Amino acid sequence: MKFVLASQNKHKAKEIEAILGEDFEIITMDETSARGIEIDENGTTFEENALIKARAVYNITHMPTIADDSGICVDFLGGKPGVHTARFAGENATDDENIDKLLACLETAAAEQRNAHFSCVIAVILEDGKEKTFSGRCDGMILKERCGDNGFGYDPVFYVPEYKCSMAELPARVKNSISHRSRALDAMMKGLTK
Ligand code: IMP
Repeated sequence: MKFVLASQNKHKAKEIEAILGEDFEIITMDETSARGIEIDENGTTFEENALIKARAVYNITHMPTIADDSGICVDFLGGKPGVHTARFAGENATDDENIDKLLACLETAAAEQRNAHFSCVIAVILEDGKEKTFSGRCDGMILKERCGDNGFGYDPVFYVPEYKCSMAELPARVKNSISHRSRALDAMMKGLTK
């Protein structure tokens, strides 16, 4: 199956392609007539935002489209930053700036108060316009400082209890077997092939 990914993030496209395997071909929106379009991600949930992105691209290309929306939800912050994860430290914030802000917000949080999870919703629009969504999550804790160089985003401060290290210390192959995105993609593969 061939899908357009409603994202310009090449890192994400590669990660998704690695998880989905050979039966799926993923091209980014930059390789279609939807190249360069601005999408206003103004939803209040991951699901709304994933659907907003998928619809924006599908309405132009009419090709099967997938879009993901993901972020980190921190218990101590009442589930924030949630849908604001990418711009937690401000519009166009870098990963480093976002991590610095998160660590500052959690300065007074004790170890047992640092629970968090990554959440991901994948929206799929099939060639006939039918819409489906699939979700996945990965539970862990926010570290007090960065560890590891792999991955992206908040990976260096996300502790994975199962492996006793940060997400950024895991090889991509291992991250891709436990991540919120891989779990949502797993659900998608099952949902589309049944
Ligand atoms: P989006 O899904 O591209 O909108 O991502 C939203 C935000 O969540 C970005 O700041 C990403 O860095 C962060 N994020 C999403 N997935 C991951 C991940 O697997 N690891 C670390 N950060 C992530």
